[in-house]
Amino acid sequence: MNKPASGDSSFLKNMNKSTLLNMVRAQRAVSRAELAKRTKLTRATVSALVEELIEEHLVVETGTGESSGGRKPVMLELNASAGCVIGIDLRVTNLLMLVTDMRGVVLKKQVISYDSDPGGAAGPDRRLNQIIGVLEEAVIALPESPLGLIGVGVGIHGFVEYPSGRIAFMPHTGWKNLQWKSVLEERLGVPVLIDNEANLAALGEWEYGAGANPGCTNMLYLSVAGGIGAGLILNGELFRGGGGFAGEVGHTTLETNGRPCSCGNKGCWERYASEQAVAGELGLSYAPGITEELLRRMKEKDAEVLAALQQAGAYLGIGIGNMMHTLNPQMIVIGGSMSRYASWLHDSLQQSLQARFSYLSSFRVQVDYSQLGEDGCALGAATSLIRERLRLQPANS
Ligand SMILES: [Zn+2]
Repeated sequence: MNKPASGDSSFLKNMNKSTLLNMVRAQRAVSRAELAKRTKLTRATVSALVEELIEEHLVVETGTGESSGGRKPVMLELNASAGCVIGIDLRVTNLLMLVTDMRGVVLKKQVISYDSDPGGAAGPDRRLNQIIGVLEEAVIALPESPLGLIGVGVGIHGFVEYPSGRIAFMPHTGWKNLQWKSVLEERLGVPVLIDNEANLAALGEWEYGAGANPGCTNMLYLSVAGGIGAGLILNGELFRGGGGFAGEVGHTTLETNGRPCSCGNKGCWERYASEQAVAGELGLSYAPGITEELLRRMKEKDAEVLAALQQAGAYLGIGIGNMMHTLNPQMIVIGGSMSRYASWLHDSLQQSLQARFSYLSSFRVQVDYSQLGEDGCALGAATSLIRERLRLQPANS
């Protein structure tokens, strides 16, 4: 019999360590005996690997648990203060930055306006320099921790290639082909992940928000604002597609020869079901402050706004029905500024969606709304770095 190569044994060891770490993270407090029971690893193996995880500052002992006869077991948990992570959401009008601990608990939140008009050829470099400045300042202010800054995640409202992180296109600025990841990594000296906003918000909601329940391994997150983008959690992993562009569902065709869209096609879903479509229906331009304006009018029970929201809700239901037929997720979470109108959208959305499944009498589709609000993307950005650092397997499986 061939002796396994040392590469194989270290691979196996890392897998086991990752499994233990994942379990400690999911359980909050767990004993070595319980870990051995659940993983079917020997007590000696668990103890040795846990010892390494403690030395690496990733796991800590936290008092004793209940005894089932005999000595009370020492409980283990993820070392939340082992290090810090930074998540950034590069929004259209400003950037939102969160600093979190290793459990994703927010230690600091900042909203920062952009320095200047991003127009012209120098726009992307000016924006990148501002981001570097903001990050360098944040790093200086981080609390002391054994591992320091673990990494930085950046959410982009646009097309991002995966895993290169190349920003292929940012529709609101028109910027194309930006390679910020390597520049940021060089300046900060830590791993940087750049991904699409809806992908990261999906991860955030799945880990800490509307989708954070055990057993939910398939979730569809829809970011609905100026356009519509989807983040897909499939089989407990973020699904990015071949090149990172999965989830651009706003540009699926809903009406043949319908309204023209910025993508060059006609009748795209987002031309009917987005917040921008609601504004268009009311003859309003889609500009910053529109959400507050529409919410104010709904407080005054404005029938015209209600009708526009209900129409958009019905169109949302049609598009979600299409995605349900394709992917059959366990739950759907709607985020983005459109989720703030949930109470007025919900009935028309649910009705239009359910009508598409009338042939399945007992089939109910669960539609929920974002619980993390504006923090979802930045929290997801931070989380993806934590998952990478801990080499985690799916948390909800
Ligand atoms: Zn389109």
